[in-house]
Amino acid sequence: MRDIRATADGLRSAIERSGYYPGLVADAVSATLGSETVVSYVVIHDALFDPAMEVRRHMTVLVLTPSRLVYSHTDENPGEEPGERPQAETTTEALSFTSISSVAVTRVVPDPAAYVPGVTMPSEVVLTIGWNVLSHIDLEPAHCGDENCEADHGYSGTITADDLSLRVSEAADGADAVQQVLAFANALAEATARAPQPPAARPACPRGPAGSATRRTSSRRCGRWVIIDGLGWELLRDHPAAAPFLSELAVNSTPLTSGFPATTVTSLSSLGTARPPGQHGMLGYQVAIPGGNALLNGLRWDADVDPLTWQPGTTIYERAAGVGIRTYRVAASSLEKTGLSVAAMRGPEYRPADSLGALVAQAADALRASDRALVTVYHGHLDGTGHTFGCSSDAWRYQLGHVDKLAEQLAAAVPGRTALYVTADHGMVDVLPEDRVDVDMVPALREGVALLGGEPRARHVYVKPGAEDDVLATWREIIGGRAWVLPREEAVAAGWFGPVNPALADRIGDVVAAPAGPYAIVATEAEPLESSLIGMHGSLTSADQLVPLLYLPSV
Ligand SMILES: [Zn+2]
Ligand SMILES: [Zn+2]
Repeated sequence: MRDIRATADGLRSAIERSGYYPGLVADAVSATLGSETVVSYVVIHDALFDPAMEVRRHMTVLVLTPSRLVYSHTDENPGEEPGERPQAETTTEALSFTSISSVAVTRVVPDPAAYVPGVTMPSEVVLTIGWNVLSHIDLEPAHCGDENCEADHGYSGTITADDLSLRVSEAADGADAVQQVLAFANALAEATARAPQPPAARPACPRGPAGSATRRTSSRRCGRWVIIDGLGWELLRDHPAAAPFLSELAVNSTPLTSGFPATTVTSLSSLGTARPPGQHGMLGYQVAIPGGNALLNGLRWDADVDPLTWQPGTTIYERAAGVGIRTYRVAASSLEKTGLSVAAMRGPEYRPADSLGALVAQAADALRASDRALVTVYHGHLDGTGHTFGCSSDAWRYQLGHVDKLAEQLAAAVPGRTALYVTADHGMVDVLPEDRVDVDMVPALREGVALLGGEPRARHVYVKPGAEDDVLATWREIIGGRAWVLPREEAVAAGWFGPVNPALADRIGDVVAAPAGPYAIVATEAEPLESSLIGMHGSLTSADQLVPLLYLPSV
């Protein structure tokens, strides 16, 4: 068990370790503490980009003494003129325990099934301390709901207790910081439980308009998911100069795997439903429609297939709405009503945005509309550029620069307390002409095949009755040296699709083939467009599978 006893010396050295104007912060805290004993403390130091794209650093110190909670917050303000030195502002308050109305701790545990009491540490902790000293009112003109009505309906408003909220995560702040906040929360909860009942709250006092939030704000908690189509982890890692903002966020992060096939239809469905491919059933770019003799192209869809029947499970947006979270999807207007959107991303309010600037503005606008919101922003042109020009092309690198700027602007252009996550649906590899096997030029590969589904780096091969063994043997013989070729049962047993719902299993090819290097299984006659692409994705290699999960904590 880690020693969590605290001392004034320990507090001072924690402030010094942060390296953030330690003398200033330590003096302000110790002046407020006086000669009181330190029972527990938390020192949190973070940085964010302000709307002018300046890095601003913040430091929060919480100290528990036998009788009080001492709160100190230091902000760095960039100089007004170019070249002028930044200023720092430190605020320190001491609060009696009777004025603390609540101590709330939210623990995020990533794999709850494997939770071991007393051993498993949460990956993220949010400590919210409510106190009765002040409340604030956000006022706005009331409206009757009719967009054309200009009558005066007076004002409506909300009264919110001023809270202090601290969020730390293992990924961004380290395991020690998570443990420190938990220990502090326990000590504070014990101290407040021993204190007399708090007096009634004082009358509320109006303050600035909505949107002028600072670190101490209302109960607002919002999140943004930014999905960059085709931004593979390895590609991002190889282009730090083209993407300085994202690369900085990537420094302390670890990648995710996208699942198989590593393709837009499947991965956006995994993100939209929070279920693996074998459960949501969006099993590839082209899959056989059971009972017929046709393929369903998941991006183009088919009017005869009802998306609600094809993927009847709930989406994250439907589930979020069920617990009072407003959800929004910000993406190109053409994607609003596609079969894929309805099947796997239904539920959110759609905010069409057909340019990079519109994506930022629409996301920020959606966030301003609600205190508890989940906003998903989707950008598809990096993938498209990689398909056409290759992901090692200048065009891809330049487009990555625009994506980096998009993420940077999204980080800056939001109200307070909004966490930002950046991820992708899959990576990409460039495939040379000599590394392509053309099914339409090798007749043996079409023998016994009823339908060729999937795409060049993730093939579903649906066979004619009784032909499974022959097709498997032929495909292994011709391309087995460059691809993993498995019968459906073995691919399922190997976990390629996650746990597979038996009712969905026949959407998977009788034979499944995934290139084991930068190869492709094209079909130049049946799929001239797809076969002409330079950049491709879908397989099980790290270049296809690994995607970033970048996190910028809420501020
Ligand atoms: Zn994609
Ligand atoms: Zn793609």
